[in-house]
Amino acid sequence: MGLVVQKYGGSSVADAESIKRVARRITETVNSGNEVVVVVSAMGDSTDELTDLAKGVSPNPPARELDMLLTAGERISMALLAMAIADLGLHARSYTGSQAGVITDGSHGSAKIIDVTPGRIQEAIGKGHIPIVAGFQGVSADSKDVTTLGRGGSDTTAVALAAALHADVCEIYTDVDGVFTVDPRIVPRARLVPVITYEEMLELSAHGAKILHLRCVEYARRSSIPIRVRSSFSNHVGTLVTSDKEAARLLAETSEGDTVEQAIISGVASDMAEAKITIVGVPDEPGIAASVFETLADAGVNLDMIVQNVSSAGQTDITFTLPMADGARALAALEGRRDGIQFASLKYDDAIGKVSLVGAGMRSYPGVSAVTFRALAEAGINVEMISTSEIRISIVTRAQDALRATQVLHTAFGLDSDGEAVVYAGTGR
Ligand code: ADP
Ligand code: ASP
Ligand code: MG
Repeated sequence: MGLVVQKYGGSSVADAESIKRVARRITETVNSGNEVVVVVSAMGDSTDELTDLAKGVSPNPPARELDMLLTAGERISMALLAMAIADLGLHARSYTGSQAGVITDGSHGSAKIIDVTPGRIQEAIGKGHIPIVAGFQGVSADSKDVTTLGRGGSDTTAVALAAALHADVCEIYTDVDGVFTVDPRIVPRARLVPVITYEEMLELSAHGAKILHLRCVEYARRSSIPIRVRSSFSNHVGTLVTSDKEAARLLAETSEGDTVEQAIISGVASDMAEAKITIVGVPDEPGIAASVFETLADAGVNLDMIVQNVSSAGQTDITFTLPMADGARALAALEGRRDGIQFASLKYDDAIGKVSLVGAGMRSYPGVSAVTFRALAEAGINVEMISTSEIRISIVTRAQDALRATQVLHTAFGLDSDGEAVVYAGTGR
């Protein structure tokens, strides 16, 4: 017997039939002797639909009101799921993020969890009830307003609750069988990864693989909570996200004495939501880069890659990538400091795509860059920017080349499987 936190994503609870199927799954876990806490996302694409509705009313809705609206999505699914479980004869109780003790900072739309005080959830477990918690939402410690954790944030709610409740495992149920070497909607020959380290998963999530919310993986690593990603539509065991040490132990166990080489690349991720800004003609002298990046930091812009060109005639260009959603804010902030920074002009380009190769095996394999750039060259794909970490190479291409680059690299590193991965549901939106 153990304590399991199970999170069901939107595609797993898209309609009444799906909700009843999930309810059966939960009761089976309880009937086999476990304590279960459930976290649920909004039904299907309803968060997108609510966002579209808000945009139809106002081009720039106030962040507080948008959060109030979006949190309604999870309220609907949590209540319906509790009803479906009650119908199967067990006691379920639904809780909003606030009722479940998910305390956040006040940044609407991307709030960070600062504390979890799950008193009511523990009480419910003690009474033998199944708590159903609304994912993606919390309450601001200061303003007491409802907040949201950013798109995909229900994963983070689940891991945060698992950590606060000292659960044995956090299971993330979705519409594919686990974490694959690439998004199976982009490359159908994606291969399921049975075990992946927190570190590799962090890089994949940070660079566009939306299978797990980035902060959920950070939280799990910090709290040593194992995550199991699996499908709510099948009985496949899925993928275990765990520490380096545990991953190495499991790898050794499966190899049963034979030496199995660690894969060089664990996965390929693509991100189509970034843009690129070039600051043309800045003076090549100490303090200029500091002014540029202080300006962007003050505007709350998150940067990704940064490249500075070789200078000529005392001037240089600085190029960086950032989330497309921050583009207008970054341009306005830089324009406001044009005299201080003394640049000649700004160039904005959002027709880019980023492809990232991730793998802990890269550390001990010197040929990764050679294979990568040869494969892209043979496919006639131009590389615009490159950045690396110890276990990742990211490449910026034209947007129209990015998906082909993803496929080409997946093949070049021998990751294509023989069969096609199953995508059980969802629209991939
Ligand atoms: P949920 O509604 O369950 O939260 P999401 O749509 O947020 O589901 O995440 C699941 C989707 O993530 C999959 O359907 C798949 O298209 C996408 N995805 C992206 N990268 C990967 C990957 N490496 N492995 C598996 N799925 C991936
Ligand atoms: N419903 C929210 C979203 O669509 C949160 C989540 O699904 O994790 O982003
Ligand atoms: Mg998700």
